[in-house]
Amino acid sequence: MKTILGKSIEEWKKAYPLLEQIMETEEVFWTNPKYGAFDEAIKNISLSEKDVKAAEERLLRFAPYIAKVFPETQAMNGIIESPTIEIPRMKPYFEKAAKQKLEGKLLLKCDSHLAISGSIKARGGIYEVLKHAEDLAIANKMLSLDDDYSIMDNEAFRKFFSNYSIVVGSTGNLGLSIGIMSAKLGFHVTVHMSADAKQWKKDLLRSKGVTVVEHKSDYSKAVEEGRKQADLDPNGYFVDDENSTTLFLGYAVAAARLKKQLDDRQIKVDEDHPLFVYLPCGVGGGPGGVAFGLKLLFKDHVHCFFAEPTHSPCMLLGLMTEQHDRISVQDFGIDNQTDADGLAVGRPSGFVGKTLENLISGVYTVEDHELYALLRTLADSENIYLEPSALAGVAGPTRLLKSLAGQKYIEDQQLKGKMANSVHLSWATGGSMVPKEMMDAYYRRGLQFQIGK
Ligand SMILES: *Cc1c(COP(=O)(O)O)cnc(C)c1O
Repeated sequence: MKTILGKSIEEWKKAYPLLEQIMETEEVFWTNPKYGAFDEAIKNISLSEKDVKAAEERLLRFAPYIAKVFPETQAMNGIIESPTIEIPRMKPYFEKAAKQKLEGKLLLKCDSHLAISGSIKARGGIYEVLKHAEDLAIANKMLSLDDDYSIMDNEAFRKFFSNYSIVVGSTGNLGLSIGIMSAKLGFHVTVHMSADAKQWKKDLLRSKGVTVVEHKSDYSKAVEEGRKQADLDPNGYFVDDENSTTLFLGYAVAAARLKKQLDDRQIKVDEDHPLFVYLPCGVGGGPGGVAFGLKLLFKDHVHCFFAEPTHSPCMLLGLMTEQHDRISVQDFGIDNQTDADGLAVGRPSGFVGKTLENLISGVYTVEDHELYALLRTLADSENIYLEPSALAGVAGPTRLLKSLAGQKYIEDQQLKGKMANSVHLSWATGGSMVPKEMMDAYYRRGLQFQIGK
């Protein structure tokens, strides 16, 4: 008989009845029984606000360089940040799908429109490359912390960095961010792409001098091959999407920037004004880092839900069974086949799952056709075009309202009377770089479906 970590499927299902539906790839909404008070949870986490602040400061040091080499960031003085907008015209669609009134404000965090690589990976991915570059340049006495970092846009620096290589495994977007940033600095950079990665991403990277290695298997294999390659090169550096605290902190910086945007709009988050955040999740670093930053700032007043495709519910399985990276969706007969290429990950980050096991409110899963329906509806109503992965977060408000588990969460957390003051923020993790023909095809696909059906 087939067993997973010594237990049969039947035993697993008995311990976790929701597995039945998860294995049938039905949409589910899971709330985390280990979710707890921030002040307690943070005691068991080795990263702190100080680490996030250090990342924020490092990005400020690099801002003059970024502004110089990526002119599209000049208007923001070299800070790569996305707008937060209201999407009120989605409300009627959500209400229809949830068959009830949706109270509170609807916001969209447009990481789809982040400069340089058009996805949330422009946070963590770029940050990690910059940190590595800074570490090398400082160790070799080419740079000091109080220099104007725009001096790095120079042949001597590019020649120096060309002695070093950077390697990463990716389903696409992380490769774009790491590849573009590394190549700009002068590094040799190799991106190992999983079979899910879109052709245009590979073409774009090659046009920038990045070496792209294509794999016929999924994300885990691409990562494994990348790691092997970097290990062989004494000057090689592997960006470890599954375990990197650097990536994680790069993502976490988003929180303070979001807080400022909310303050500017006089949107309150406090005891009486809960903030619900819905984050598309692949391996977990992006949503995990953002959620960590948000919990540091808003503590128990922010409620972070992760969103995964029904065919790639790796973080859900990892958190629910508490086995984290010891199990994969394939162990449970789930195929990890989804059009949400950014989320096509079969085994979650153990580091993220363990770090946030008491801070994530829950995880829900979304079918691909729902992603397409949301894509089309958001385009029609708000004229915003996202890639399928990013729509997983847009499903959040409806799913919270219409699921029993979501309703129970609201009651248990004593939020029922506060929903009119609440804010629902969907993290739109990517989309602006998708070629037009491809986006048109996504849109046409969406015409076949209606949200909530
Ligand atoms: C990578 C990615 C995510 C999720 O980030 P992880 O760190 O893999 O969890 C979500 N959306 C898009 C568009 C992505 O590219």
